[in-house]
Amino acid sequence: MAKTDYSLIILGGGPAGLTAGLYASRARVDTLLVEKGVPGGQVLVTDWIDNYPGFPDGIAGYELIEKMTAQAQRFGLQIKNGTNVQGMDLSGPSKKLFLEGGGELSCKALIIATGARPRSLGVPGEKELTGKGVSYCATCDGPFYRGLDIVVIGGGDTAVQEGIHITKFAHQVTIVHRRDELRATEVIQEQAFANPKVNFVCSTIVVAIDGDSEVVGVKLQNIQSQAETSMVVQGVFVLIGTIPNNEMLPSDQLHMEDGFVVTDSEMRTNVPGVMAIGDIRSKAVRQVVNAAGEGAVATQAALHYLQSAPKG
Ligand code: NAP
Repeated sequence: MAKTDYSLIILGGGPAGLTAGLYASRARVDTLLVEKGVPGGQVLVTDWIDNYPGFPDGIAGYELIEKMTAQAQRFGLQIKNGTNVQGMDLSGPSKKLFLEGGGELSCKALIIATGARPRSLGVPGEKELTGKGVSYCATCDGPFYRGLDIVVIGGGDTAVQEGIHITKFAHQVTIVHRRDELRATEVIQEQAFANPKVNFVCSTIVVAIDGDSEVVGVKLQNIQSQAETSMVVQGVFVLIGTIPNNEMLPSDQLHMEDGFVVTDSEMRTNVPGVMAIGDIRSKAVRQVVNAAGEGAVATQAALHYLQSAPKG
């Protein structure tokens, strides 16, 4: 019969989970990394990563994940791919994970690394042109748009702040917002209004993104007049919020804020023996480099917990 009980289970195989797996397997902890699909998370669909240290020329997202996976497996990390955890019970000393189609896994310590996904617009052209001019991360992709005209969609802190950030590279940044009032905080708005490279188009939605092999423009619709216009741009940043992958997490047991798991600086949640890392964690900066760092920190917390937890 296949083994189902482990000292440590890591749920999610993005950079956070894989780094936790590396540290746990090097520490010789009886660990299983459970992944819904194959390891990688959002990095797997990120074309190119220029801001992960150690790769002076940058690295393709899939290649970084291949290397992280191979490094963790070199120390014996077991990875269970294609395993969808649908729910869990964290109330006892043995944490129980309920699998799609029946079956159960259990562990003494659990590291949640299920990630998040950017909210998408759902307009024609968006999916087809993702990575070909459509991006969900200005910090990651801004430098690829040097001297080009780009549109940022959204009116929150992320859209306005990242729109300002992209002006370091782009020729012109147009922020398209669906209402006539921005959601972003005053001070961020003031910075954007003072930046000559930032334009605003309000009360407007993007109804289509144009292009075959790359983005060539967007179709806009004014929500008051319904009038449609076209704009020539080479890049579209969709920055309309982040959705946590929390569907399997018990909200009655785990402390969450806006759907993201709250932790202390050691990545410990309110439930003893349960840590959370990476994009599922409630925090301001969601980058590969801090996801990886959190993996290392959480594993130390898991080790301390396993050493001090009652046996049996
Ligand atoms: P957010 O505050 O939820 O804002 C999302 C924006 O996208 C809103 O303007 C919303 O429009 C718009 N939007 C949502 N769905 C849309 C759709 N389908 N089509 C068009 N527009 C759509 O998300 P966020 O900006 O990512 O910020 C998330 C949290 O992080 C916030 O609490 C924010 O304060 C915080 N944050 C803070 C900082 C900072 O302090 N420097 C930086 C970044 C983020 P409506 O306004 O009409 O709803």
